[in-house]
Amino acid sequence: MSFIEENVRRVQAQIRAACERYGRDPKDIRLLAVSKTKPVSDILEAHRAGLHEFGENYLQEAESKIAEIASLPLDPAPLWHFIGPIQSNKTRLISRDFDWVHSVDRLKIARRLGEQRPDGREPLNILLQVNIDREPQKAGIDIDEIPGLANEIETLPGVRLRGLMTIPAPRQGLEEQRIPLRTLRQAFDTLRADHPACDTLSMGMSGDLEAAIAEGSTLLRIGTALFGARAPKTTGKPST
Ligand SMILES: *Cc1c(COP(=O)(O)O)cnc(C)c1O
Repeated sequence: MSFIEENVRRVQAQIRAACERYGRDPKDIRLLAVSKTKPVSDILEAHRAGLHEFGENYLQEAESKIAEIASLPLDPAPLWHFIGPIQSNKTRLISRDFDWVHSVDRLKIARRLGEQRPDGREPLNILLQVNIDREPQKAGIDIDEIPGLANEIETLPGVRLRGLMTIPAPRQGLEEQRIPLRTLRQAFDTLRADHPACDTLSMGMSGDLEAAIAEGSTLLRIGTALFGARAPKTTGKPST
């Protein structure tokens, strides 16, 4: 078994074990393979191991990988999720090439994504990114802004609001990790009462997968545990 296939099996076993522990059905939890910085060959290996949804953060990098993979006869065709920060001049390509966007945090971006969705395609699935720990350096809306933004997005053509996403500040230990995730889960339940089409709660990464399952995640975004550690991203800027 290859390194990646072994990782896929291990992560799937962890998901099943956590589901058993917290009374969840594994069928209610999607595993998104976060393939940022990883080559096409890794994505193909994960696909062979049974994963069909991939998450990318950097548009330029994603574009070339998506184009290369689109030229291959993969069955099923992969679904692409954009999970990185969005600049408004990038919305056209994101709307053309992705099936899901997890990182919507303002109306202007949602409107552009909807307007730019190519004719004949299903509406783009979007999640609102919530800055659950109110970290100044992090993207995302405040939890109090969810209802207002959701109501506005609901009226837009070309996009379909499906739920919420968050990246909490790192915490040690299961109980600590559960705290912010529980807050987001409660906000999700409130959102769902008004917007029944919202069915997706995107939380849980390699380090807090169990806490996320315990708190009701329906979509785990897993990179390192599937593909191994990433090389630090070189920005060309001096690091201070
Ligand atoms: C990189 C990334 C992940 C995956 O993180 P790992 O710790 O490698 O599992 C998940 N979500 C977002 C938004 C990311 O940028």
